[in-house]
Amino acid sequence: MSSHSHVCDRLAVFGETVFATWSRLAAQHGAVNLGQGFPDFDGPPEAIDAAHHAMRAGHNQYAPMPGVPALRDAIAADLHAQGGWQVDANTDITVTAGCTEAIAASMLGLLNPGDEVIVFEPYYDSYPATIAMAGGVMRTVTTRPPGFGIDLDAVRAAVSPRTRVILLNTPHNPTGHVATMAELRGLADLAVKHDLVVIADEVYDHMVYDGVHVSMATLPGMWSRTITLKSFAKTFSMTGWKIGWAVAPPHLTAAVRAAHQFLAYAIATPLQHGAAAAIALGTDYYSQLQQDYLARRDMLCDALHAAGFGVHPPEGTYFVMCDHTPFGFETSEAFCTHLVEDIGVAAIPPGSFYADPADGRDLVRFAFCKTMPVLEEAAARLSRLQVAAGR
Ligand code: GLN
Repeated sequence: MSSHSHVCDRLAVFGETVFATWSRLAAQHGAVNLGQGFPDFDGPPEAIDAAHHAMRAGHNQYAPMPGVPALRDAIAADLHAQGGWQVDANTDITVTAGCTEAIAASMLGLLNPGDEVIVFEPYYDSYPATIAMAGGVMRTVTTRPPGFGIDLDAVRAAVSPRTRVILLNTPHNPTGHVATMAELRGLADLAVKHDLVVIADEVYDHMVYDGVHVSMATLPGMWSRTITLKSFAKTFSMTGWKIGWAVAPPHLTAAVRAAHQFLAYAIATPLQHGAAAAIALGTDYYSQLQQDYLARRDMLCDALHAAGFGVHPPEGTYFVMCDHTPFGFETSEAFCTHLVEDIGVAAIPPGSFYADPADGRDLVRFAFCKTMPVLEEAAARLSRLQVAAGR
């Protein structure tokens, strides 16, 4: 058998995910890793204790395909307590291997070949890959600084007879934009008018600093056409547990489960028990999380500004997009290479979040899901950047 790459054409175009590349470079150069978004601190000890306990209590076989009942009940109770949702834990919730699997399961479960998905760019890099796996076609609508707001006219223009899905991420990775009521209403109107499904990726919903997060599913007429995706990893700071969930009415849940049963089938049983214990912590936990991230956001944004970046302060998420052009580099890859090799900080060049990487050439993404001493060390290193002559 020949040794050239056997990656299929559908996926070869995506190459290696940018997160793997830059985390490897961060390790190689001993850099402070503000690239890939994962916390450098642990989630709630209650979750870890409950997962231990579940292992010792013999919860070590396959979970039910849609998720452990205790976790789905906790999710349903939390949706009710936090947002007044009335969901049926049996028919409306599917636990997945992180939100990444929920995205893939939604695409694979919903799309027929040639179906179109409207995606806002810059986008999370698994969106185009999973649309391609499903044989779908991505139509992009670009959002731009400052603000990275949604141009509803551009969305209207992107709708075609083949459009099946609008994929909305709010709060938005990587831009930090939190969808406004006007944007949500505009998208909801289009979804109703053209009979579209909205996949609402809301994994950063507890990290909002300006504006208010509103779930698309709560708008009039939208519950019946929305799949809402949430993430234990983001909210409870344990990305390695790989637990997320999809919330949708039974006719859409059927699509998610049709794919999920053959992708992951079921998710790690004891960890689902741990996740249920974390969710039971409730409102005090969420407000502490928000306050901690607000302080980290302000600290890193100030440091980036002081270092000479053009900062686009995020309304939500744990990412901040910056303009690196004051430092005189042509592309974000060139800038990030200098940053990781010579300054000792890793960031993400957002080229792979755009259909045309040149659209992200001036931008760089930093993650601030790190402890304050680590952010302070990053700030000290960033202060060594030299603004290019003549700027
Ligand atoms: N969601 C994380 C980020 O945007 C990374 C997840 C991953 O590595 N696939 O940085």
